[in-house]
Amino acid sequence: LVELIGVNKHFGDLHVLKDVNLTVSRGEVVVVLGPSGSGKSTLCRAINRLESIGSGRIVIDGRELPEEGKELARLRADVGMVFQSFNLFANKTILDNVTLGPIKVRGMAKDEAQTLARGLLSRVGVADQAAKYPAQLSGGQQQRVAIARALAMRPKVMLFDEPTSALDPEMVNEVLDVMTELAAEGMTMIIVTHEMGFARKAADRVVFMADGAVVEQAPPEEFFSQPRTERAKDFLSKLI
Ligand code: ATP
Ligand code: MG
Repeated sequence: LVELIGVNKHFGDLHVLKDVNLTVSRGEVVVVLGPSGSGKSTLCRAINRLESIGSGRIVIDGRELPEEGKELARLRADVGMVFQSFNLFANKTILDNVTLGPIKVRGMAKDEAQTLARGLLSRVGVADQAAKYPAQLSGGQQQRVAIARALAMRPKVMLFDEPTSALDPEMVNEVLDVMTELAAEGMTMIIVTHEMGFARKAADRVVFMADGAVVEQAPPEEFFSQPRTERAKDFLSKLI
């Protein structure tokens, strides 16, 4: 469903993505691990072209991502993204945050978008917050709204970049639970996280990055018990 072929990216002299090849199948849950600065966020951003790439190809559901234009907007709408900072529109209600994309980008009628939004908000457990503004919600609730907002676009794949890193510890699980449910429902997901328990449980495959390159890929039980490279062993030994 998502295919990266020989993707390279530089920031000036810094080579941040080094010939990255990655294939994610429909329904697969891939967790991306790696030390700080290894290029995990850049990889996510490249997948929906929030970041341009120097060379290589990114193919989503059989279509290559173009550099710009209408086709890019359409393909980008197929990729839902959830960031560390929830990025909700502060001056819009929770309901409006979720209906905005379907109405503006998908051309959905307002009442249809609201029905869809209410369904999604109830699915992530915040239906009762629909009339409030983001600042009135806890971090965990805001992040669940951000997930509902991304889902409202009916994406083919969901990208998560450290979705729980900015949350107080007691709110981490409520967000991970929503992600676990999504995975169980067959959503294709690429998740950057430092939550190793979640990675073990939810991932079909762990992709380990270091220094801008994909160094190792394996099912979680294999990656955590028998890392093959020194860099992966080093990374795992530093976790508590
Ligand atoms: P972390 O775990 O800390 O989030 P990461 O694996 O997500 O790290 P990236 O944010 O992708 O790492 O960054 C990869 C490298 O690219 C780093 O060396 C970073 O300093 C650099 N970098 C990222 N964004 C930019 C930018 N806009 N301009 C210049 N350098 C950048
Ligand atoms: Mg990052």
